[in-house]
Amino acid sequence: MDAAKKRSPAWHALDEQSVLKTLESTAQGLTSDEAKARQAHYGRNLLPTPPRRHPLLRLLSHFNNALILFLLAAAVLALAMGHFVDAAVIAAVVVVNAMVGFIQEGRAERSLAALRAMLAPHARVMRDGHRLQIDVADLVPGDVVLLEAGDRVPADLRLLRVRGMLIDEAALTGESVAAEKLEAAVTANAALGDRSSMAYSGTLVAAGQGSAVVVATGAATEIGRISGLLAAVETMTTPLLRKINQFGRRFTVLAILGSALLLGFAILVRGYDWLDALMITVALAVGVVPESLPAVITITLAIGVQRMAGRNAIVRRLPAVETLGATTVICSDKTGTLTRNEMTAVRLVSADGEITVSGSGYSPDGVLSEPPSPAASALIDSGLYCNDAELAQQDGNWRVDGDPMEGALLALAMKAGRDVTAQRLAQPRLDEIPFDAQHRFMATLHRAGPGEEGVVLHVKGAPERILAMCTRQLGSDGSLAPLDEAYWNAAIARAASAGERVLGFASVRLADHPAHLGFEHVSELVLSGVIGFIDPPRAEATAAVADCRSAGISVKMITGDHAATASAIAHQLGIAKAPEVLTGHDLDTISDADLPASVQRASVFARTSPEHKLRVVGALQSQGAVVAMTGDGVNDAPALKRADVGVAMGDKGTEAAKEAAEMVLADDNFASIVAAVHEGRTVYDNIRKVVAWTLPTNGGEALTIIAALLMGLTLPMTAPQILWINMVLTITLGLVLAFEPAEPGVMRRPPRAPHAPLISPFMLWRIVLVSVLFAIGAFGIYAWAIARGFDVATARTMVVNVLCVMEIFYLFSVRYLHMSSFSMGGLRGTPAVLWAVGGVIIAQLAFTYAPWMQRLFDTRAVPLTDGLVIVAIGVAVLLILEIEKSVLRRLDFFDELRAARPETTSDEASSPQNPS
Ligand code: ADP
Ligand code: MG
Repeated sequence: MDAAKKRSPAWHALDEQSVLKTLESTAQGLTSDEAKARQAHYGRNLLPTPPRRHPLLRLLSHFNNALILFLLAAAVLALAMGHFVDAAVIAAVVVVNAMVGFIQEGRAERSLAALRAMLAPHARVMRDGHRLQIDVADLVPGDVVLLEAGDRVPADLRLLRVRGMLIDEAALTGESVAAEKLEAAVTANAALGDRSSMAYSGTLVAAGQGSAVVVATGAATEIGRISGLLAAVETMTTPLLRKINQFGRRFTVLAILGSALLLGFAILVRGYDWLDALMITVALAVGVVPESLPAVITITLAIGVQRMAGRNAIVRRLPAVETLGATTVICSDKTGTLTRNEMTAVRLVSADGEITVSGSGYSPDGVLSEPPSPAASALIDSGLYCNDAELAQQDGNWRVDGDPMEGALLALAMKAGRDVTAQRLAQPRLDEIPFDAQHRFMATLHRAGPGEEGVVLHVKGAPERILAMCTRQLGSDGSLAPLDEAYWNAAIARAASAGERVLGFASVRLADHPAHLGFEHVSELVLSGVIGFIDPPRAEATAAVADCRSAGISVKMITGDHAATASAIAHQLGIAKAPEVLTGHDLDTISDADLPASVQRASVFARTSPEHKLRVVGALQSQGAVVAMTGDGVNDAPALKRADVGVAMGDKGTEAAKEAAEMVLADDNFASIVAAVHEGRTVYDNIRKVVAWTLPTNGGEALTIIAALLMGLTLPMTAPQILWINMVLTITLGLVLAFEPAEPGVMRRPPRAPHAPLISPFMLWRIVLVSVLFAIGAFGIYAWAIARGFDVATARTMVVNVLCVMEIFYLFSVRYLHMSSFSMGGLRGTPAVLWAVGGVIIAQLAFTYAPWMQRLFDTRAVPLTDGLVIVAIGVAVLLILEIEKSVLRRLDFFDELRAARPETTSDEASSPQNPS
């Protein structure tokens, strides 16, 4: 370690062995004890983050907003006029709003930080001689890291062994063409972009694979030196939130202008005292502006993000929370997303016939239906050599480290009595061409067995690909025979139509070891046979597909697998009875004009490469679809970016895919996408409920005052009373809708139209109707009080109370926008609802009966019977709104209500192809 303490040498100019020596490491990596010791010395592999602003500064920033400044000006004015109560209440409103904003900001930041922690990148390292996944932050100099296409380089690395590696260094050098990497040292004065023996932290592996040793971590890396600090933290914002903020600002201006007009009218035409009129119009402006709306909507989004994370869907970009709710098509990978990605080899086909294999999982318990012939033995051997996986027993369970299909091949070899470790040692691997979804095969070169000449090339891959590279096959006795294509095609079709994943295997003996293994060596191969694997569908996926169907979302499977395999699995999952399949080749030949229609019809896309996904997304979007698309590889990034909601796999996905995605699935499970759609719809519903509750309650108050001023009546409320209502409701009822659970039918109605306005015609009608009802209730109780012979102060106390009571009952109505609120759940409410209602009741009792409140707000005690009348008015409002809901539903007046009716959802299910 002393050596590394010195000024770091020019790693790129040293050869691999001297680098390892200097770092006191080996190609087998460090021991975990040594890694721990080094971490204590070097610290964690993290870039420094900017310090957070002081909480006081953050609190103060909430005062820096036009409306708040307007309120403060009003408070100063009231103070100057000697209206101390008004000034105090306005100040309280300001403080309460700033606090709500401050607290919600803290909450939003915490939930974003939790998400970032869930997405902390991992690196594959060698520790104690074994491959291991660790947090990138735990890397130390001397660690040996394994890299493959799609990885974000986790630290500054000196490459030890590379195979076809290209690294995109744009993040560091600005060079957009990926740089080719090699092991050989370069000259000491090479520029950063020319150091082909190095991989720098923050750059992206675009192709190939390799291993490398860590030479610098954290702030000591090149990127650490350049940027110094990480980019500022993301703030909680979405298009909808921006629209609402904009709406809020415009509304404020309108409210102030309107109030000014009203003020002039009240003084000049109606002859009110100018000071009274001024205070009341200021209070009115304050009351009518929905100043807490952005904060409450942010809370709603933050809660949605948390709920999604709880269901394994981690949102990386907030707008996805909204978009998810409007999703009309989900394009999903098959292997691992719709299926379990737990492979078991069940069928071996060689020239002399078929062998079936028993057993499940990766355990080597199971038997072959007959002893393997020489050809079948060669097949099993190819599967053992052309293989990067390792099987290990953990707590009695066999687990695979690496590709599941390759794990299954090892389990197969063990069932056939092979000693995997011994065989791999006897014929070590000399070179390889790694698997790539593009060319769909992989090849490894091995030393020939003891006493044999030359080298052997083993190839495995998509069977038609392998077949095309073969000229001969291995006969039943192990001798070479001409290739019988018809025989193999029949075997492949048999296995694939049973839903099996099929791999073809071939090998060839080469006289000498080629200097660099290339595609030209993979030809004129000898086919040894094919193997079929089962990969059962995930049980949850079947249910999730059914949910999509009833929710009017079409599901499309996009896979690199064989058409018949994909079609069989799609059928098992219920994606379609007889799925229409398009292959990658079909997609290449269909013209741009015909593409949208064909893509919309098909539900399975087989033998596709990542580029095809991009075409599929584009074609669907051209039809107005809102598309969620899954992906895991580095080549999936463009399609993920293009999709409305790009979904990356958290477990098997590459860093490149995750960074391009809007959302990452912690469990790689299709059902989690559907859960996220469910939450996305709920969030959007809740935002609409927040708006549907806030606007008419403000409107009702305002309408009451405006009507009184216009008609020159005694004002039914004083300015402090208006401000009081505003404050009490903001911190109680105004917040609860953010916590609403999903309405029962969320997944039984079609997706919302992506460009539908937040305030639909139905909501606009609602806002007007409720405002009018509130004004009628307020005037009604005022008239009732005066008729009973009460004084104005008592009548005003009753008006304030009736408004609060109506707000409570309206809350119960608005909790179910689409259906009746009269159900057990509807009347019981949620804990949040009950707390808030309790809060309002306590506040109102104090307001009405506490002597100091009576002095502050000029209120009077209300007799019990009149209190009951007030509650009765609230009940009446709820009843009227319920009747309205059911009448409108019956009249079929608003599309929105029609969509929620259970009868139509079953029609929807029978035509899942066209949700719009
Ligand atoms: P999927 O969409 O099912 O994940 P992939 O793109 O991963 O499909 O793989 C496509 C095809 O490539 C598979 O059907 C299989 O024939 C072949 N293949 C997959 N993995 C390997 C591998 N490790 N080695 C050789 N061939 C493979
Ligand atoms: Mg795959």
